[in-house]
Amino acid sequence: MPGNVPGIRQGNMERRIINTDLTEEDSKVESHLRPQALEDYIGQEKLKSTLKVYIDAAKSRGDSLDHVLFYGPPGLGKTTLSGIIAHEMGVNMKVTSGPAIEKPGEMAAILNNLQEGDVLFVDEIHRLNRQVEEVLYPAMEDFAIDIMLGKESSARSIRLELPRFTLVGATTRAGLLTAPLRDRFGVVAKMEFYTTQELKTIIIRSAKVLEVEIEEAGALELARRSRGTPRLANRLLKRVRDFAQVKYDGVITKEVADFALDILDVDRLGLDNNDRAILLTIIQKFSGGPVGLDTLAAALGEDAGTLEDVYEPYLLMNGLLNRTSRGRTATEHAYRHLGLVKADE
Ligand code: ADP
Repeated sequence: MPGNVPGIRQGNMERRIINTDLTEEDSKVESHLRPQALEDYIGQEKLKSTLKVYIDAAKSRGDSLDHVLFYGPPGLGKTTLSGIIAHEMGVNMKVTSGPAIEKPGEMAAILNNLQEGDVLFVDEIHRLNRQVEEVLYPAMEDFAIDIMLGKESSARSIRLELPRFTLVGATTRAGLLTAPLRDRFGVVAKMEFYTTQELKTIIIRSAKVLEVEIEEAGALELARRSRGTPRLANRLLKRVRDFAQVKYDGVITKEVADFALDILDVDRLGLDNNDRAILLTIIQKFSGGPVGLDTLAAALGEDAGTLEDVYEPYLLMNGLLNRTSRGRTATEHAYRHLGLVKADE
């Protein structure tokens, strides 16, 4: 057994400011910050232009949009984009999530209440249970559901027609989706991390909405440290605003952003204690790797799936971590970033 690494919190990783899951505080403010029209949605350019084609085509046919699946780490704008689809199509959006629907009858009721053309947004769609998921198959394919009436020998099923609707599914774990469900989506799109420039634009826009004064350099620093994730950019903006109000004259300058983000333990690359703990564990407990995902997850007290889908993508994108056939390794860049020297092989 490898020994404990000094300075690394063992057990479950900290709930962190840069955790990209939706918190209650976020959802209060997010509704104001969510862009409603496609042209106000910043970034994801390729996806936006394909969606625009599909939306325009469906509108000109007077048809509903094909079912859409968005996948990628949390906070990248899947819910927002779903709302935009509804807005652009001129229909309503109903929102639910995989874990919220326990029984097939509940899913049938939701579907039955949709209006012609509506968007049904199902967050965490990989968490639907099998029976509930099976209600979706005919609904997505034929816009119908089969309902069983009566019991045992007298049981018969009747088919209920549904209005044409668009299912928008979102998942952080595309690999957990069953093949029959995945195959029923006409559009499957991966959400990408945002560039610093895109995040800067989002931050400046959010600052306007929140009536916070921010300088370009302040916005740039916030953008750099937002992990490629708009939800985080908005959350850090709010935190830094508090520092600006209390410690400075209310304006977010680069100095304020630096000061606040350092206190919040978000480093120059946007990594927090948990990200650093992952890299440090690989380096110090497993000699830089390779270490298998499950072993690494056990050492950190974190779920392997969360590690893989929520934490690792950003570390991979920044060249701090490598996935090899034998496991995860920390890169030279990771050593340098953490101020460590790689021991000779
Ligand atoms: P997800 O569903 O992927 O977890 P959300 O759609 O809830 O993410 O987005 C999180 C927050 O980030 C929202 O407050 C939204 O306003 C903001 N956001 C996401 N994507 C964009 C974007 N492309 N442009 C502007 N703001 C965005």
